[in-house]
Amino acid sequence: MRSITGWRFLFVIALPILLASIGVVALTSDLLNRVSSNADQAENKRNRDLVTRALSLSQTELAQLTSSNAQWDDAYEATTPMVDVDWFSSTWGHFTDTGTRYDLVAVVAEGQTRAEKVSTRGSLAVTDLEAYVGRAFHALMKQAIAGKAEAKPATSFAMTADGPSIVSIAAIVPQSLAVRAGPQKYLVMMRRLTPALLEGIERQFLLRELSLVAADQHSADAVALRDATGAVAFAARWEDRQLGESMTGFARQKAAAALGFLILVMAGITFVCWRLLQHVVTKEADARHAALHDALTEMPNRLALQEHIRELRNNHIKDYTIAFADLDGFKEVNDSYGHDVGDKLLRAIAAGIGKLARGAELTCRMGGDEFMVLFKGTDSGAKATSYAKNMIAFLVQPFEIDGRILRVGASVGIATCTGEDVDELEILRRADVAMYKAKADGKNRMCVYDPAIDVERNENLAIAVELRKILAARTLDVAFQPLVDARTRRISGVEALARWPQTSARKLTADKFIAVAENAGLIDDLGDLILDKACAAAKAWPELRQAINISAVQLNNPRFVERSLQIIKSHGISPLRIEFEITETSLIRDADRAKEVFKELRLAGIKIALDDFGTGFSSIGYLRTYQFDRIKIDKSIISKVLSNPAELAIVQGTLLVARGLSAEVTAEGVEREAEVSVLRLAGCTELQGYFFHMPMSAQDLNALVDTTRFRQGKSVA
Ligand code: C2E
Ligand code: CA
Ligand code: CA
Repeated sequence: MRSITGWRFLFVIALPILLASIGVVALTSDLLNRVSSNADQAENKRNRDLVTRALSLSQTELAQLTSSNAQWDDAYEATTPMVDVDWFSSTWGHFTDTGTRYDLVAVVAEGQTRAEKVSTRGSLAVTDLEAYVGRAFHALMKQAIAGKAEAKPATSFAMTADGPSIVSIAAIVPQSLAVRAGPQKYLVMMRRLTPALLEGIERQFLLRELSLVAADQHSADAVALRDATGAVAFAARWEDRQLGESMTGFARQKAAAALGFLILVMAGITFVCWRLLQHVVTKEADARHAALHDALTEMPNRLALQEHIRELRNNHIKDYTIAFADLDGFKEVNDSYGHDVGDKLLRAIAAGIGKLARGAELTCRMGGDEFMVLFKGTDSGAKATSYAKNMIAFLVQPFEIDGRILRVGASVGIATCTGEDVDELEILRRADVAMYKAKADGKNRMCVYDPAIDVERNENLAIAVELRKILAARTLDVAFQPLVDARTRRISGVEALARWPQTSARKLTADKFIAVAENAGLIDDLGDLILDKACAAAKAWPELRQAINISAVQLNNPRFVERSLQIIKSHGISPLRIEFEITETSLIRDADRAKEVFKELRLAGIKIALDDFGTGFSSIGYLRTYQFDRIKIDKSIISKVLSNPAELAIVQGTLLVARGLSAEVTAEGVEREAEVSVLRLAGCTELQGYFFHMPMSAQDLNALVDTTRFRQGKSVA
């Protein structure tokens, strides 16, 4: 996951930032290069113009000089028809270094190349002008002849024998004299483009390294200087100042610094992004872990289990089993010792489950005191069953937490999926249903899901609905079963037994609907109603003890004692006549609470009987702890008393203990005469059973009691 994020980060953040940085660097560099080259081009163009202009200025200067000397009466007179050598030498041939702006002067007749008189500053002895000036001479001469009427000078660059020069030719014409006979004479002037002259131009126009090169060395960056024929005579070259470079050099430095800074910032941003991303990824992973795990035990949670089952189904794995364990008695631990101890117990149990469920796909805590283990494969059912057995055995052992000995149990529901497509919610529901069945069957056991459980569950739901209506209408019936004195066989008391109304379409035993009432939260109302009806009826038999069955669930109601006393008193019945019967299995769960309730009941005068003795874990210490007023030996033991000596021994032992604790002993379910004598001989003080009386209506009991009274000749008090 991390590495995927790393790649994603690279593509989404780091790479774009890198590319953007490269882009900015490239753009900036390109921009600077453009600026630099544009500046260089501008500089080159400017220098080219300057060179061109400076040299054409020299050309114009020489042309003007030639023209003004040729249009002169004195010059005409001194050259036409014959050249006055002295005048020539003293006027034109006399070179002084300052002010003389030509290096050769000559007079030549029209159509001639040989000069009539020539004078040069250099050492060359020039006679043939064509040989000296080169091919430009003829062209210039032609132009000068064409313009001889106005004495227009013809001027051009030329590569003379003295090097790069400017040559100018003009017809010598008079200003005021009459034109003489003879050939037309021309004034030829030449100026060399010397290094000194070039230096002057350099200084004037701020050029560098200006030089002239031969035509064959001419290139694009030089200025071509042409002669009168139009051909390149020579070329001017110079060195451009690298203006662009000098202009952008500074900018480049600044840009480099800015870019460096930018790259640093980008790197910083990239780093921060990376850290942020890492943070988010970690947070995300943490959140996901938290969402899928239980904080207390670090086990995966319900969501994780559902996700896992979904994954199995997506992978077409259809053989798996879940074992759903709900702790029995955990709530009591929590209530009695606090959540701290409860949490430690849960952690200890979670660790145990982790070991017991080796080979499981997943073990998780579903919340509260519920744990779920998932097994995979065709043998998953067997694995889950074996795990459930071990789990129940493991929890039978007490836990020691903070110096306290704690006992809990577990009810385990098992649901298997074998090849059918059952979704995660349905499989969880089945395990839940099986777990509830295990609880209803007496807890601390496992139950494998069967569709019949659903039927039973639905049936129980329907019964609960009907019971709620029956309680509201107060149509639940009460039957009364007399209890007889073992010695005299006279009626000593009456046990009230709840009866499902005859008017209902259902036929339900008391055990059945009492269990439904307990599970549906209706037992308090049911208990109140039975107590109310029993007390109402009991007014008719004031000499008899009235026994009422109480469910252990009722003891959890903090107002149980208060409500019961209120009902009893509302009928004007003395609490001293009332005896509450409670089964021992139900007392084990919360001994402290039971003791407390018993104390309050006894204070009010109500007696307490231990019902169904012999079916649970009865121990002598247990009998002593609660100090029952009466012990009722269960009918399952009584029915075997005659045939099984061990059962008789239980009865005799119980009687011994009971006598020691000064408790009465009632034998339930006496059905035969033979049992009566055995039980009486064994020491039972009271007997109950079909042999004496069936449970009956209050009316029937009234009639029975009446006849007994009549027989005994007693009057009703
Ligand atoms: P229990 O308290 O042990 O009640 C005695 C049961 O034994 C009654 O069954 C009674 O009809 C039956 N019985 C009496 N004599 C004989 C006999 O000779 N042979 C046989 N085989 N059975 C005999 P019932 O009325 O079906 O009640 C079953 C259980 O339902 C009761 O057992 C009691 O635990 C519970 N129960 C009944 N009424 C109430 C009630 O109002 N409140 C509570 N919490 N539980 C009740
Ligand atoms: Ca009873
Ligand atoms: Ca009983």
